Amino acid sequence: MDVLQYKNLIDGVWQAASSGQTVDIHCPCDGALVSRVPSSQAEDVNRAVAAAKQSFEEEDWAFNPRLRAQCLSAWAAAMRASHEHLAARLALETGKPINEARFEVNSSIGYVEYYAAAARTLYGTSTAVESGLLSVLAREPVGVVAVITPWNYPVTLLMRDMAPALAAGNTCVLKPATQTTGCTLEVLKLLDGISIFPKGVVNAVSGRGSITGAVLADHPDVDMISLTGGLETGQEIMKTAARTMKKASLELGGKSPNIIFADADLEKALPFALKAIFMNAGQLCTVGSRLVLEESLVDYFLPRLKEEAEKLRPGHCMDEQTSLGPVISQEQMDKILGYIDSGKACSTLVTGGYRLTENGLDRGFYIAPTIFLNPPMDASIVQEEIFGPVLTVQTFKTKEEALAIANGTPYGLASAVWSRDIDKAMWVARRLRAGSAWVNCYNKLLPECETGGYKQSGMDRAGGAEGMLKYTEVKHLCIDFMR
Ligand code: NAD
Repeated sequence: MDVLQYKNLIDGVWQAASSGQTVDIHCPCDGALVSRVPSSQAEDVNRAVAAAKQSFEEEDWAFNPRLRAQCLSAWAAAMRASHEHLAARLALETGKPINEARFEVNSSIGYVEYYAAAARTLYGTSTAVESGLLSVLAREPVGVVAVITPWNYPVTLLMRDMAPALAAGNTCVLKPATQTTGCTLEVLKLLDGISIFPKGVVNAVSGRGSITGAVLADHPDVDMISLTGGLETGQEIMKTAARTMKKASLELGGKSPNIIFADADLEKALPFALKAIFMNAGQLCTVGSRLVLEESLVDYFLPRLKEEAEKLRPGHCMDEQTSLGPVISQEQMDKILGYIDSGKACSTLVTGGYRLTENGLDRGFYIAPTIFLNPPMDASIVQEEIFGPVLTVQTFKTKEEALAIANGTPYGLASAVWSRDIDKAMWVARRLRAGSAWVNCYNKLLPECETGGYKQSGMDRAGGAEGMLKYTEVKHLCIDFMR
């Protein structure tokens, strides 16, 4: 396997960090070295922001939606042509099974294509206030946007967050998550082959969040911060945004409930419930980590879910047969195992509950799919985002009880309800305090549709029209003319 070396992208030129320092990235499956990326400091950030600012002020980009649409379309096509290579680099850095990596690259392309078209739809409104007085509300880009992304879906979230910023006419400085810098920069390398894409519109500086990310967010010439990440980082960014008066969009964590009533289509619900928690080894913001089951269903549903969970095949990400990858790091694994220990102390362990070490898995960070039955509502495994393959199952008798369990955490990112009784399903769905409420499905994350958080899951929306409008300012143009 090749070890690939990466540089920062500043004003269309790939360049090493000014300090010359790098960070090594290892595959979470077996610890193999896969990428070497720059460790950037304030000087690199300053240069990237200056390039983005200049590109914004040159106006070719900011005032030219047709060019933006063409550039984004070309980028999507280039990603499609490099699909397999991008998927492989993504799998090697995250450890996710290659099939899941392919799915992720496709999903990322979907966002670019959607926003390529949407770039030409930034409509404003007009009002004839009185004879000889016309008011126009026009959408304009905010300016330089700092796009800060996480490691769990680094390629999809790159485009979910950056493509709409570009479509709206902003220029960007990307700070990818350290762990997945290489696969993120692979996507940016495709810009080298798109001659119409103006230099300096997309810039990237890699490095640690607390250094590179913090300097970028704080920079006076950055007009807006778009963060997808954890709650604590969101709180830091809000402080920075308040101090420097910037717009901030925050897509944060979750602890999402998946409610299944006894009258649901259980054959359909079972694979969704399984995938909702064990996809990407549970490292998904909208993961269905709390299964909320009608009590009469437990004896039928839980043994089947357990059986399916135990069938998941752990292995190396590049093995086509693998259906369960490792978690991202030793630190993350230790944190998850700590939650598992606390779960054993307060609830019934249905399956899993340990690190997988056989057949060479001890070289990576594998955890057996784990299910706990009926932990108390205030248990940390119910209240806190674990970000690993750990499911809690809680039972209810009435729809009111189901709703109270579902809404009983500080998070509000996603939710789902399953029932053949549409009146009951809609009663619950409308009362779920979450940015997404799926009815008889789970994790339908679509470029056309918004996701985002209530409560501590964030501010603003990603995806869909709202996901682009947040990257705009509204200007009131008032035209006084002959009456
Ligand atoms: P994280 O918050 O640790 O890091 C996210 C990004 O922020 C990284 O690029 C990191 O380097 C950077 N960062 C960290 N500290 C910073 C600081 N002080 N200033 C500026 N940048 C800083 O999150 P993570 O561990 O990479 O990702 C997992 C978290 O992201 C989970 O909580 C997950 O739920 C959340 N997430 C949310 C969504 C969503 O759409 N709501 C999607 C994916 C992941």
